[in-house]
Amino acid sequence: MCIFCKIINGEIPSKKIYEDEDVVAILDISQATKGHTLVLPKKHFDNILAIDEEYYTKVMNTARKLAKVITKAFNADGCNVLNNCGEAAGQSVMHFHVHVIPRYKGDDLKIEFTEHELDLNEIQEEILKAM
Ligand code: 5GP
Ligand code: ZN
Repeated sequence: MCIFCKIINGEIPSKKIYEDEDVVAILDISQATKGHTLVLPKKHFDNILAIDEEYYTKVMNTARKLAKVITKAFNADGCNVLNNCGEAAGQSVMHFHVHVIPRYKGDDLKIEFTEHELDLNEIQEEILKAM
């Protein structure tokens, strides 16, 4: 059983901030910023490629609501709502989850994009072919 399934089952303790029939939200054990929260479905899905629409909608809607609550609670200046899918993308726990990370002016958290010179026409074509 994965570590988040164990948390959901109560086998591993966590700081829960929200729970309903299908979704749970806990404080991330390593707070990237104050209030860093993880929103997860109670049912196990490995990642965003595996989760079904119904659960995905429930998780994302909870993330949206909690983003409001958490930014208000800490008077944050903004937030990042993000998901890592696969090891290459930084996913370390293979149970789908969404990070809600409050942001504070001057915080030292780095979420950076680097630029690559790629052909946008080719990329668009490949994606449209895969649909
Ligand atoms: P990922 O890297 O998969 O997107 O995010 C996994 C997150 O889970 C990390 O930010 C990590 O700190 C958090 N995490 C890992 N183990 C535990 C745990 O046992 N309890 C809690 N609350 N968070 C955990
Ligand atoms: Zn799991």
